[in-house]
Amino acid sequence: MYIPRMSLSGAKLMAAAYRSVGIFAEASPLSDSRTLELGGKYLNGDECLPERITLGNFLKVIEDPSFDPDKTAFLLPTSGGPCRFGQYQVLFKKILKEKKYEDRVLIVSPTSTDGYEGFGDSAGALMRTSWLAVVCSDILRKIHLKTRPYEIEKGGANEIFQKGLEELSAILALPGITHKARKSQLHQMLITIRDRYRKIKKQPDANKPLIGIVGEIYCRLNEFSNEYLVNKIEEFGGEVWMTDVAEWVWYTTDEQVQRLIRTGKRFSKEMLAAQIKIAILKKDESFLLEPFKADFCGYEEPHRVRDVLNYSHPFLPQSGALGEMVLNVGKSIYLYHKGADGVIDISPFTCMNGVVCETVYPQVSQKYDHFPIRIFYFDGSQVDLDRDVEIFLELARNYQRKKKRARPAPVSGQ
Ligand code: SF4
Repeated sequence: MYIPRMSLSGAKLMAAAYRSVGIFAEASPLSDSRTLELGGKYLNGDECLPERITLGNFLKVIEDPSFDPDKTAFLLPTSGGPCRFGQYQVLFKKILKEKKYEDRVLIVSPTSTDGYEGFGDSAGALMRTSWLAVVCSDILRKIHLKTRPYEIEKGGANEIFQKGLEELSAILALPGITHKARKSQLHQMLITIRDRYRKIKKQPDANKPLIGIVGEIYCRLNEFSNEYLVNKIEEFGGEVWMTDVAEWVWYTTDEQVQRLIRTGKRFSKEMLAAQIKIAILKKDESFLLEPFKADFCGYEEPHRVRDVLNYSHPFLPQSGALGEMVLNVGKSIYLYHKGADGVIDISPFTCMNGVVCETVYPQVSQKYDHFPIRIFYFDGSQVDLDRDVEIFLELARNYQRKKKRARPAPVSGQ
């Protein structure tokens, strides 16, 4: 079963979680110009970049000489609402039909509405291991991005990242162990990885601008689709704070709670189940994050997603605007309060989240000391980003010189 490759670490760890319950899963192939070419063949131009890349990578699997339709499945969740995500599956099924594979290739589409019953007895275990995969991937990315810009000898952080990814993946894929045992092994491994990052020789630089990244979840995490923007920011002397994947999980659980309240089910069995689920997710996350308290000092994620939604409220009330746009505006303000020097919102071209946020950001910036916030749009037509990144970092440096919100020293000496 091929898993769409949103982030490099996320897809790999998620595939490992599926392997732990006996599903032979792996991340879909790396993206390249062939991905865009294949995806573009079946699209009419109204689709977004994440759709083109996801389908292009799946089509790369299909055109591979070793492809066996009777033994291949693709993971492709779906959703309702105006987001094009709900259309990926419709289009992919159409393509499979055209290729006469519709009765042979399986599309796996787990959904919370049926309690993931498609996975049978393994559903509960899979969901909990998947959450551990999300948390581990977020932690690894965070310590990596916080260390790499300061390393004296380039390349060490990337090596630790790759090695750590393999090691975490091996633990997540272990079959037949208890959740407690897996969690404890991951905890130990994260400590080992943390210590490797700590040992890297760093050049402290308190003036390095810290740039928060918000935006559409796929495009901001998929390096190919954002043309390696994080590397570019680092090249031009900045450090990146990337918004993690867990934020989306917390947002959807909060939405579920709000929906129950709106429909008069504040005191119901469903509410109890939702609250138990939140408590379990929180407990797992806190346990895995605990060894990083000192390393992430000053870089803490919001305690509750509600804090982010409250920041967003004066500009985009959650009751009238939903999804990523609310999170992106709120997280930008959160990053301002944490002492960041600017925020870049990564958005696929024509995605409504980016379009709405772009109209709101000037007011946010004005209210918060002219905090620099800028949208970068991507449509797969590789452009030269150097000039734009350089200008933005100059803006961030100007802001940094007179900003009222300081941040803790970026290198803790760990
Ligand atoms: S949020 Fe926008 S870019 Fe992302 S899948 Fe939906 S429509 Fe596409």
